[in-house]
Amino acid sequence: MVITRALRPLRAVIFDMDDTLFDEMQFVSGGFRAVSALVAEACQTPAEQIYDRLLAILSRHGRGRTFDLLLQEFHLEGKISVDRLVNVYRSHVPRLTLYDDARCLLGALKRERYRLGLLTDGDARVQRSKFSALGLEAYLDGAVFSDDHGCCKPSAVPYLAAGEKLGVPLSESVYIGDNPHKDFVTARKLGMFTIRVLRGPYREVCLERSFEADARVNVLEEVLDVIS
Ligand SMILES: [Mg+2]
Repeated sequence: MVITRALRPLRAVIFDMDDTLFDEMQFVSGGFRAVSALVAEACQTPAEQIYDRLLAILSRHGRGRTFDLLLQEFHLEGKISVDRLVNVYRSHVPRLTLYDDARCLLGALKRERYRLGLLTDGDARVQRSKFSALGLEAYLDGAVFSDDHGCCKPSAVPYLAAGEKLGVPLSESVYIGDNPHKDFVTARKLGMFTIRVLRGPYREVCLERSFEADARVNVLEEVLDVIS
């Protein structure tokens, strides 16, 4: 764990969502369940078996071609389209819960009267559905879905939009995320203080200095020590 204390007054905290505030596999799992139910009906195979295959394909091949490979495996190309499965996946109603440390931190920061925001990448409809399922509107003063701006991190556009939404200069704001490939490089250039939570699929990733955060924490409760 590396904690570097912020040396300036900070008034706003902006969060990444997936794998920072909740375990994104919760959404993936729910989406796979919805897809499995549809595919099971088409090929007379138990949905549980389809679900297990989806997890195995994801683990072996990563994201991108999961549904193509599933349809191939069950000889369903031409009967069900990948687009249909993507739509079922994206439109399922998710049941999600915040990480315990995320709920604690959000509550504590709100009590301390920080302005709180969200900046998240990904399909805007999906991200809004996660946002609602997590009950984030109870904590946050503003959310930016970069997809609405036709861009994604590390573009500067969504960070600037988030600062504007919260009415706080980025130099007095913190960005907290889990993905060093895109979460911190631009945020730091824009003058934000950045904090990386070490979890999720990027936990072990170590990049050059410009992509790293100013501080690293194992659990979000440590954030309070860093910024206060
Ligand atoms: Mg993330």
